Amino acid sequence: MSRSPGAGRFAPSPSADLHIGNLRTAVLAWLFARSTGRRFLLRVEDLDDRTAAEIADRQLRDLAAIGLTWDGPVQWQSQQRPRYAAVVDHLVDRDLVYECYCSRRDIAAAPRAPHAPQGAYPGTCRELTAAQRQRRRTETGRPPALRLRTDGTDYRVTDLVHGSYRGIVDDFVVFRGDGVPAYNLAVVVDDAAHGVDQVVRGDDLLSSSPRQAYLARLLGYPEPVYAHVPLVLNADGARLAKRDGAVTLPEIGAQSAFEQISASLGWPASSLAELLDRFDPAQLPRRPWIWRATP
Ligand code: GLU
Ligand code: ZN
Repeated sequence: MSRSPGAGRFAPSPSADLHIGNLRTAVLAWLFARSTGRRFLLRVEDLDDRTAAEIADRQLRDLAAIGLTWDGPVQWQSQQRPRYAAVVDHLVDRDLVYECYCSRRDIAAAPRAPHAPQGAYPGTCRELTAAQRQRRRTETGRPPALRLRTDGTDYRVTDLVHGSYRGIVDDFVVFRGDGVPAYNLAVVVDDAAHGVDQVVRGDDLLSSSPRQAYLARLLGYPEPVYAHVPLVLNADGARLAKRDGAVTLPEIGAQSAFEQISASLGWPASSLAELLDRFDPAQLPRRPWIWRATP
């Protein structure tokens, strides 16, 4: 095994306790990192005010209880605001961002080109004049978001699970109107700041990865390699949630949760060391794990 100077990471948002699906993703991120000789970092994505420090503490406790170890101190995004602000200033200086006054409803209602991809920003505020911006500011009564001026195309990333994946890069938000750095910006800035070159996370974020890789390149950062792993779903095929029963670690028990996770991956094991021994990314299940509470 050759030692890579790089790092992998797990980056939970402390808006709810981790459920067995989140824990499975964390175990996979750890396995991908450790099996390639990388460092493994833990980052709490607590910029949004729907997050709470008590929840983060419980998440860290659960990750440790399942046996995960990480290198260096836990990083808290809320302590890095100046870092994000400096990058946003740099984008402003390069004239790569513009003010957007649209609400979600405005975006949904805006006319768009016939073949515009679903969910892409339609470009409403891209070419506003200073006078128009002033008027929109007065009309809406709220500060604008900042959007990245892209060339409105798509971008290709390399994903260890999905292969070469191409997805849209629209003019996405890098700084929110409420003064919070956008998720897509914070992730890219932090991963680069900490030498993260391997991003393992749930495949609900696959479609965000072209935007993030595009931004990384724009900022002169190296692009990480991605592995978007299948989510855990409930018996109805929906994302696992609290209402699905005993889904958190204190409810399931750390050892039982760990054994269920490793069995679901196809490598039954009773410890992380044993699982690491068996881990083979090429054999990773490609389908979601349908989770049922054991009675
Ligand atoms: N904080 C994000 C989440 O919990 C994950 C971010 C990432 O891994 O890039 O969904
Ligand atoms: Zn707009």
